[in-house]
Amino acid sequence: MEPIEEFNKASVLLEKAEYNQAAELLFKLRKQNPAMAPLCDYQLAAVANAQGDPMMAYKLYYNAFTRMPNLTSVLYAEKASSKNYIFTGKRNEQERTSCPLCGNTDTTPKWCYPLPEAIGYNSFFNPIRLWMYCAPCHHVFARHFPEKLFIYNDSPRSPQPSFFSYYSDVLGRVSQYASGMKLFEVGIGACECLLAAREIGFDAIGIDVIDKHVRMARDYGLNAETADFVEYETGDRFDVIIMGDVLEHVSDPVLAMNKAAELMKEDGALWVSTPNFDSAFSIVSGHKDGMKRQQYHVNYFSRDSFYSLLNKCGLMPVDYTISERYNGSMEVIAVKNR
Ligand SMILES: [Zn+2]
Repeated sequence: MEPIEEFNKASVLLEKAEYNQAAELLFKLRKQNPAMAPLCDYQLAAVANAQGDPMMAYKLYYNAFTRMPNLTSVLYAEKASSKNYIFTGKRNEQERTSCPLCGNTDTTPKWCYPLPEAIGYNSFFNPIRLWMYCAPCHHVFARHFPEKLFIYNDSPRSPQPSFFSYYSDVLGRVSQYASGMKLFEVGIGACECLLAAREIGFDAIGIDVIDKHVRMARDYGLNAETADFVEYETGDRFDVIIMGDVLEHVSDPVLAMNKAAELMKEDGALWVSTPNFDSAFSIVSGHKDGMKRQQYHVNYFSRDSFYSLLNKCGLMPVDYTISERYNGSMEVIAVKNR
């Protein structure tokens, strides 16, 4: 059999989770064909990660990219968005050595994945993501990430009309726990929630760190400001706070959640959606779970770690729903401890 056929056979075994057989073939190939070593290392990294050795995976992935910077052109499918990616060396990053929720420094590597495998990979991020695990919190967080996460985010998409009825349901649910109609949204994105809230009759305002989102909101006549949530100052207090897909992006979730509690009226309610690594969807998806290759995410909550964050900030969960919008996300409503 030709080396490339052997390699393809190993890749099929890997895909089928036949890790030992795949590794055996890859080690043999690597030895017989030194030119193929980087490609073999890339696949052996996936084996190491799947077999519970993410640090070995981290080392092997970087070995592979260092020795063959354009390996995605050979390994990735024709239509893959990172087919033409070229590794130009590791960029400086922030390193997180303690759990962002509890400060525990005794955390362990949990998973390692190559970010270029995800659609829309931005080479501003280093290509390999190491996820750490804090056992007492049951929380997962990114070990390394760029100094400024947001300014490299993509330009806004257009509002998706199908999301209006979804937000109508969300707002209906959260309203059951709040007594008024003053709403604040953190991270307005393409404005679907704010647009739906206004239609329903909420007095709604939102902020976003990305100015393009805010300009879009203003074009729709919505009340919006460009601001970083944790630095946002206002004398207003709100009945409903909406934080859709925000906490997975913030480097200090405790600070953000305390801010949400501060802006909330005593009888208000908070709605949060965020990916749950322990969700039914993510467990079934295993290594294919797209959230594990999400470059912009630095936190990956479980229900437990999210509830402990709420508790730390004087909040209490009152409703848990599996998201209809994003596979593997949880939607939680919380109120103040009364
Ligand atoms: Zn922790």
